[in-house]
Amino acid sequence: MALFHGREDVYCAFCKSQKKVYTKKHVSFSNYVETFVLSVLIMFIVWEGFEFRFLPIWLSLVLISEVLVQVRWRLALVCKRCGFDPIIYRRSHEDAAIKVKTFLENRKKDPSYWLSKDTNLDLPCRTPEGEIVPNPRSSKLLDFDM
Ligand SMILES: [Zn+2]
Repeated sequence: MALFHGREDVYCAFCKSQKKVYTKKHVSFSNYVETFVLSVLIMFIVWEGFEFRFLPIWLSLVLISEVLVQVRWRLALVCKRCGFDPIIYRRSHEDAAIKVKTFLENRKKDPSYWLSKDTNLDLPCRTPEGEIVPNPRSSKLLDFDM
């Protein structure tokens, strides 16, 4: 289905939850054709004939669509459940950790997240006695001795 929608199912590298990301990073040839047709249509509506002034309109439309496609791609990369950003992680692991920590702190305080799905993180839990134990709800996929 990625062929028709330009979206792909992937898993977050941090919390392992499934998410959809846009695979298209830049405008395609069909976007150039669509913006060209739109600018020619605008040319005939505004000047009622052929004018070379449609070229700046076409270039503006191509620029706007390129910016929108890149912003859409970039925003879809960030995990909505844990705030993990793979682009920041490639640049700096510490900055990505700070961003995830800040996101999870804000998520804890935001009432709109209180009834939403869990973050799917296998964080250890503290018992009432103060002992730190592995999360009892965690998946056993990563359960190995270190
Ligand atoms: Zn995540």
